[in-house]
Amino acid sequence: MKLPRRRRENPEASPAESAPEAASDTPDAPDAPATAADAPATAADAPATAPDAPADTSADRTADATTAAQPAARSRVSAARSPGGGLRNRMRRFLQQPGTVDLTPYRKLLPQIAEDEERLRGLSDAELTEAAGDAAEDAQLCAVGREASRRALGERPFDVQLIGTMAMLSGQVAEMATGEGKTLAGAIAAAGYALSGRSVHVVAVNDYLARRDAEWMRPVYDLMGVSVGWINQSSTPEERRQAYAAEVTYAPVSEIGFDVLRDRLALRGEDRVTAPPDVALVDEADSVLIDEARVPLVLAGAAEEGSADEAMAEIVRGLDPETDYEIDEDARNVQLTEAGAKAAEKALGDVDLYTEEHLGTLTRLNVALHAHALLQRDVDYIITGEKVRLVSESRGRVAWLQRLPDGLHAAVEAKEGLSATDTGEILDSITIESLIRSYPTLCGMTGTAVAVGEQLREFYGVEVAVIPPNVPCIRDDEPDRLYETAEAKEDAITKQVADAHETGRPVLIGTLDVAESERLAAQLERESLPCVVLNAKNDAEEAAIIAEAGARGAITVSTQMAGRGTDIKLGGSSGDRDEVAGLGGLLVIGTGRHESSRLDYQLSGRAGRQGDPGGSVFFASMEDDLITQYAPDTAPPDEVDDDGLVADAGAYWSLGHAQRVAEGVNLEIHRNTWRYNKLIEEQRRIVLDHRDEVLRTDTALKTLGERCPKRLEELSETLDEDVLTEAARQITLYHLDRGWAEHIADLADVREGIHLRALGRGMDPLDEFHKAAVASFNHLFDETAQRSAESFETVPITADGADLGAAGLKRPSATWTYLVQDNPFGTDIDRALRSVGRLLGRPRPGS
Ligand code: ADP
Ligand code: MG
Repeated sequence: MKLPRRRRENPEASPAESAPEAASDTPDAPDAPATAADAPATAADAPATAPDAPADTSADRTADATTAAQPAARSRVSAARSPGGGLRNRMRRFLQQPGTVDLTPYRKLLPQIAEDEERLRGLSDAELTEAAGDAAEDAQLCAVGREASRRALGERPFDVQLIGTMAMLSGQVAEMATGEGKTLAGAIAAAGYALSGRSVHVVAVNDYLARRDAEWMRPVYDLMGVSVGWINQSSTPEERRQAYAAEVTYAPVSEIGFDVLRDRLALRGEDRVTAPPDVALVDEADSVLIDEARVPLVLAGAAEEGSADEAMAEIVRGLDPETDYEIDEDARNVQLTEAGAKAAEKALGDVDLYTEEHLGTLTRLNVALHAHALLQRDVDYIITGEKVRLVSESRGRVAWLQRLPDGLHAAVEAKEGLSATDTGEILDSITIESLIRSYPTLCGMTGTAVAVGEQLREFYGVEVAVIPPNVPCIRDDEPDRLYETAEAKEDAITKQVADAHETGRPVLIGTLDVAESERLAAQLERESLPCVVLNAKNDAEEAAIIAEAGARGAITVSTQMAGRGTDIKLGGSSGDRDEVAGLGGLLVIGTGRHESSRLDYQLSGRAGRQGDPGGSVFFASMEDDLITQYAPDTAPPDEVDDDGLVADAGAYWSLGHAQRVAEGVNLEIHRNTWRYNKLIEEQRRIVLDHRDEVLRTDTALKTLGERCPKRLEELSETLDEDVLTEAARQITLYHLDRGWAEHIADLADVREGIHLRALGRGMDPLDEFHKAAVASFNHLFDETAQRSAESFETVPITADGADLGAAGLKRPSATWTYLVQDNPFGTDIDRALRSVGRLLGRPRPGS
């Protein structure tokens, strides 16, 4: 039986290009860092000469061996051209390596870096720090970084790491496999930016890694004379201010975003903690820049009690899934059938849902139906401590405080019989994409960037540099195994785990969601295969657990992405690396193909790090969501063996096809969301600039004085100019902030409503949205000026300032921040709301 191969990453697949012996004789071999550090900087660093004389040095050989999966002629062809040339772009297309840059200019600097190194070894620590300050060019900087790292960490950065550093210094995203040492490559790049006077934010995956990486790299930064700080959820405003004041700041993207939002409401310039964005260096760049791009970070205020719609939850619970509603093939929309609408009308006391009067009821009903039929417990959200917590799709971890849009969140709470949490007014929000785009310079690193190269260019204008591994990857990626049913698939997985475990080989099982993790863990448990489950429910220990996943006999079940950022060493902490390597290294098992092939690579990439042996295999079934949602017309397989394993090639093709469809759908959603957000972001910028001016200058008093000259004259008789300036400022800020909150609430309404109106009349929803948004925005400034003037006339102003409270102008008593999963169904919320539109737009059922 011949099965299609999933992909070819293994250099052996293309023997002509491999040079496996390069691995063993390089002094850069990873298991000998101490010797590498002491050895003279010769062989590996000897001239990486001209591209037409490759394979002269071990560094070059390793590099060439590992580009095997890429077109062979790349370096030679592009070397002849200057970067950015037209031919290069054509070659890029021809070679089907979209979004990758030519590494030759970086390779050419390696000899100079090697030369510098010998000189730098002779310097004292203080002299090295001085040399760092003098390093004007990337090559000098890399040489200093290498020496600083050797001294501070006992790890001498490999050539390929420095190539990654140079790519980042050129504003690119470096693709480097897991375990290649991105943390260090990124730190040297960050130090390089800092030494040229820039202020760098290293965007980390989570709290744990922000702190770990900053502290881990601190000795290197110290030697290079660069200050470093980090931020966590629990950091105080003062700690944040200090961390941002450092030249390099490590922080999770959400914390940076929340600080930006909070600063946005500051009433005094000195209350702000952030500085203007400058350089962002993003770790796990694809995850932040693409997967989480659309996630809005929200600042909310002024709590009022939320209300769970228990009545509606009860009604939808009583509906019959067979006859009363229909779920779209892609499980993104649900709508009532005529029978369902009738049943609901009856339950509501014989109302007519399809009249203007009951529009609100119908919307509530639909929201409840979404919560009931589309959001699945333990897949889309989990319940912990009587609270609904969302599971972030791309990470498989709980994003604390992450909420669905208010109505939907309350509907899920009602569905689960929980009491409703408070809702609040959104004061401001920003998507991760907008936040990152506010940095004038962007670069990053990740194990999987090429697959989203086009998107990185489209949305962020950055290029991808594919950095070869230091030692060629020898991981054995087996072909997919597709089963007819989910049950047969899970049995086969269990058997595979048992077989591997019997030999002592460690196994890492990557699942698609939390529910599957638990189901599989239970099944393994029944077969006496003890496993550790790593998922959203125990995220605190995940780094420690994942670090042990390579130990002899370990079986680790993990939802995708959990523990990303922690590398899995063979043998675990006890360190029997060779023994585990002898067993074949880590075996990674995927329980299904993800919606994006990139996520598959991330999972398989956990095995075979730094030239270790390892393997990966993906199991799939015809019942997997990927196939039923994205290739629903797939014919049942003809050839199936006794264990349920599918043999016909057509079915395997459908699996890949479904994944490509899913990738296309997700890209389209991203584009669409960005089309909406772009305008809002521009408006936000304008308001912010104006607010900043109010905060820094006496604009507010001038404007109000012009509008209300009498009042100004009257107040000036008894009050100092300073007091008046501040009073005018506070009044203006109040109305500006109010105005903005109202504006974004309006926009949210417009965006929902526009679909109803536009669809009904064949208009383009985006055009309609833009028209409405521009009109509302023009209104915002007039309104703010008008209201400020009224307040200036009426608010009591004394030597203590303007008493806004006395005039009923209260700022929110408390604010809080959260992330909204804009795509609770793996899609944009407006798509979900579109079914409401469809329902309203079509003739009343039964009429
Ligand atoms: P990545 O982020 O690329 O997955 P990490 O930065 O977590 O990888 O590094 C993986 C491991 O490799 C770490 O244990 C680190 O100490 C080690 N390492 C990185 N660079 C070197 C080097 N030049 N020499 C020896 N060990 C290194
Ligand atoms: Mg990392």
